Amino acid sequence: MEIKETQAKSILTKSKLPDADYVVNPYTGCRFGCVYCYASFMGRYVGKDTADWGEFVYIKINAPELLEKEITKLKNKGKGISILFSSVTDPYQGVEAKYQLTRKCLKVLVDYEFEGLVSILTKSEMVTRDIDLLKKLKNVEAGLTITSIDDSVSRFFEKYAPNVSQRFVALGQLNKAGIDTYAFVGPLLPNYINKMDSLDSIFRKIKNTGTTDIYVEHINLSKYIYERLKNELPDLDNKELEMFDKSKNKDYRIKLDKIVKELVTKYGLKLRLDDTIYHKDL
Ligand code: SF4
Repeated sequence: MEIKETQAKSILTKSKLPDADYVVNPYTGCRFGCVYCYASFMGRYVGKDTADWGEFVYIKINAPELLEKEITKLKNKGKGISILFSSVTDPYQGVEAKYQLTRKCLKVLVDYEFEGLVSILTKSEMVTRDIDLLKKLKNVEAGLTITSIDDSVSRFFEKYAPNVSQRFVALGQLNKAGIDTYAFVGPLLPNYINKMDSLDSIFRKIKNTGTTDIYVEHINLSKYIYERLKNELPDLDNKELEMFDKSKNKDYRIKLDKIVKELVTKYGLKLRLDDTIYHKDL
């Protein structure tokens, strides 16, 4: 595992993602190393291969200072603008405990009295450490990624990320603290089409935390992701690989979209963007 401190050239980056105007990624690389991670292509910017994803984290040590300068370029203190932490890394992965770059960046936004929306997306309960700052932001929401209700599934697909049970607890704590929250249900794992009960339990458990807003995303199996997934999970048999293959199919997605909408209605949740996200459509 390689950890290296670096000086970034900029930190506030324009985004093409739906629902995010800008993104802040305080780290390059992500120790959580999820096998389905679309951000594994980021390695190429620091001379790494997609196979190295999860094995290096570069610390953008000057991120807070850069943000302090760059934020002043947004008009009206950012009113009407949204900033996502983060799009190609997890802002609360292990190194954040030591470096606190996400925390320091949030503090910059608090001190600047940023008027826009600060949106956080993480797989870590460490986000609750910063509830004090989140409460001081004018417009903020914190999202936890939920891909199952089963810790053994998180261990399998999200090697070094906190167990999903801890993420449910974090959602509950954030809700209790009065922070707006959402769950990011994605990627939808290929077996959910055959196991509606599993998907049902995810939605029910999210609702039980007090969270009502969800994003749902289909799995992105672009070639580089699929190759890495196969390398990371060499024990997958042909039948299991076939399930992944099937999930590239449009009919599969249409079926799953229908199930998602039924569950959203059943549990009175709000499906953001009104549809299940599919990366190839973006
Ligand atoms: S937590 Fe997010 S950025 Fe990190 S490896 Fe997993 S999917 Fe990728």
